[in-house]
Amino acid sequence: MTQRLALLGATGSIGDSTVEVVRHHPDRLSIATLGALGRNPEALLALVREFRPRLLAVVDPAVAQALRPMLPPGVELAAGPEALLAAATHPEVDKVVAAIVGAAGLPPVAAALAAGKPVALANKESLVVAGRLLTDLARRTGAEIVPIDSEHVALHQALRCGTREEVRRLVLTASGGPFLNRDPATFANIRREEALRHPTWSMGAKISVDSSTLINKGLELIEASHLFGIPPDAIDIVIHPRSLVHSLVEFRDGSWLAQLSVNDMIFPIQYALAYPERWANEFPRLALEELRTLEFLPLDHRRFPAVQLARAALAAGESAPAVLNAANEVAVHAFLDGRIGYLDILATISEVLDAHRAVPLADLAAALEWDHWGRQRATEVLSKRRRSR
Ligand code: NAD
Ligand code: MG
Repeated sequence: MTQRLALLGATGSIGDSTVEVVRHHPDRLSIATLGALGRNPEALLALVREFRPRLLAVVDPAVAQALRPMLPPGVELAAGPEALLAAATHPEVDKVVAAIVGAAGLPPVAAALAAGKPVALANKESLVVAGRLLTDLARRTGAEIVPIDSEHVALHQALRCGTREEVRRLVLTASGGPFLNRDPATFANIRREEALRHPTWSMGAKISVDSSTLINKGLELIEASHLFGIPPDAIDIVIHPRSLVHSLVEFRDGSWLAQLSVNDMIFPIQYALAYPERWANEFPRLALEELRTLEFLPLDHRRFPAVQLARAALAAGESAPAVLNAANEVAVHAFLDGRIGYLDILATISEVLDAHRAVPLADLAAALEWDHWGRQRATEVLSKRRRSR
């Protein structure tokens, strides 16, 4: 029997890599449902023809309508944001691959966990917005969350070698992004194309910008604390420009466990899909003899204040990371659209967080309300910043 997947965010960068892993293991993996926003209907249609899912969920209703007459027989179509919930909880789905970008991924992740479906999670934003709620939900239904984010896959593997009490700290590695060595005095002039040119990973636009400001590492710190139940002050970040050591755990006896692989998301994705097994594959290997050096450097918080922002939000209380994430999504979107400058991204997040008094999150609806509040506030801050230019 193959493991039948729901692939949400099917047309994105993680979606592409997941499809590559599924093609590599036709005897082990199949695709039962597909979900996407609908920006790339041709790619979606090609996936439907190749994998013949039971259900195709397209958020954009106009795109769904346009696709309807082209679908092969036996493929059901659902439109609108609720369609993603149907794709996540479909009775023929064994595991959900959450590869939607942003807080939009939260409702289907929550629905999958509530239905008892294990989730292979790339969508880190959902854990940033509602980490405790999701891990509580997973515990209640017994549906496991296994990360896809490469750092967390590294930690997940290392943590299998000891108990939580034996862990001294987690260390997340960060490439440092495209501006690791750029003169900070010129950060105001950074253009979209420069921010999108990541030195070691090929990824979607939003996470590429997040990696350039290093807010991505802040989001990952929050993600790690929820996933592994480790307090944030026992999670550190180190710069490792080559992105070959994907993260490390230091145990209390002074032993370090690190995980390495080629920097291609097919490896962490296969891990998350195979877990608790390990499958052989024919993917390209890391040539140890060619590495020679593995450099690690401290993170310069003056150059990259984003990680401290995220740490402060996590310490402030549950609604604050949701607000931080919302403000970041709005600001990154505006930067990608050419509406604001590079430095406006972090300035906006800071200003929105300053205006926020953190509270605990009672439920998912509250998390989504704070997400909404953060978006509105960020939009106001951005228009004010634009007017005062
Ligand atoms: P991407 O932009 O390439 O793809 C995003 C996907 O989400 C697309 O299929 C799009 O249709 C869908 N989508 C976007 N908005 C949506 C909405 N409102 N409703 C439904 N679907 C929507 O993004 P990506 O780089 O593949 O990243 C996906 C997630 O994985 C992000 O959370 C990212 O942080 C995480 N991640 C990505 C990488 C990577 O290498 N790309 C690595 C680690 C983690
Ligand atoms: Mg990562």
